[in-house]
Amino acid sequence: MDPSPALRGLRTAEILAVGAELTVGDTRDTNSGELARSLTEAGVAIARIDVLPDRLAVVAGTFRAALRRADLVVSTGGLGPTPDDLTREAIARVVGEAPEVDPALEAWLRSLWARRNLPFLEINRKQAWLIPSASPLPNPNGTAPGWWIDRPDGRAVVLLPGPPREMRPMWFEQALPRLLARGLGRGLRSRTLRLTGIGESQAADLLGEAVLRRANPEIATYARADAVDVRITATARRSRPAEALLDEAEAYVLDRLGSYVWARGSTTWPEAIQAELDRLGWSIAIVEAGTDGSLGGLLAGLAGLRRVERQADRSRSAAAIEADARAVAERSGAEVGLAVSARPRGQDTAVSVAIATPLGDRHERRLGFLGGSAGRSRAALIAAAAVLAALRRFER
Ligand code: AMP
Ligand code: MG
Repeated sequence: MDPSPALRGLRTAEILAVGAELTVGDTRDTNSGELARSLTEAGVAIARIDVLPDRLAVVAGTFRAALRRADLVVSTGGLGPTPDDLTREAIARVVGEAPEVDPALEAWLRSLWARRNLPFLEINRKQAWLIPSASPLPNPNGTAPGWWIDRPDGRAVVLLPGPPREMRPMWFEQALPRLLARGLGRGLRSRTLRLTGIGESQAADLLGEAVLRRANPEIATYARADAVDVRITATARRSRPAEALLDEAEAYVLDRLGSYVWARGSTTWPEAIQAELDRLGWSIAIVEAGTDGSLGGLLAGLAGLRRVERQADRSRSAAAIEADARAVAERSGAEVGLAVSARPRGQDTAVSVAIATPLGDRHERRLGFLGGSAGRSRAALIAAAAVLAALRRFER
């Protein structure tokens, strides 16, 4: 059989996470999320993610159904040597082929045991199995090779091992490049605008229900811990390329919500602030009160962060906070001093932010939605947004 790859675009995918350890709750399925993110970035629409126990009938049935629906099916787990690892058996059953030991894989496997001076156990031969339509994905970090399977209709199946440290390199270094060469996700494009200072429902309201219901371009809002994201996704229409549809949708979003946009894509607060510090050639020091260290936590990893201090006193006056910002900058030799103080006000959190810089100081007062730890996290976001906005105003 001569598979005819290249003919079918790979635009939709389903992900299967196989393993009883997942379905009984011992292990969290992190693989699916990583794969979903990577595939989404490549422009593939994830139609579905399934987490399955080590049951042959269940795994085979899910592969069969997924292969009817999606262009690409990626599984992780169930490639070990033990009888409960039966992802290979499952896909073999679905494509109607019988697994056989591949001599080259068996020689490689045996060499692994020989290297450690251990007897090769018969049980391990299963990891040398292949079916005629599968080619192996070498595993330099373990003993279970992955499988790449081309279906006659141009669909593709990729089996990856369960352990993340084996799965990840096999995906990023082998399977993904091969899929990209096959035209993975061609046609689907997406952009994300990151918003601050506005809630998800308010953002959705400003965008309008009609727009949020449209399928292409699709505009959707997501409330994340560090931002409200507006994601625009488009596939090319006969008359218009995806990029043109994205441009048009983005212009609409910016018209409605432009003043709330602080970043694009998957940019984080430390990344956005660092970019401004780099542009200005500055570093920063922070001092926080009543926030339980949430600002230091949010900005951890900021290369230009010289010092983080915490103060117990929550009810600091505006003048005291402004003095704090200047003092922490001076103490640490940073150009920018950022001071935030948060204290409960009713159900919410009153937040005061002072920013001292060589080109001028600022002070902002805001009410953060909710109290407790949610309010303290909100205070950190308010401070980060304030310093980012302040830095962006400076020319150099
Ligand atoms: P396997 O032998 O291929 O079934 O995988 C064995 C080990 O990989 C499990 O014991 C888990 O520790 C890990 N693992 C399997 N599936 C996942 C998953 N979806 N996410 C994270 N770790 C996993
Ligand atoms: Mg397993």
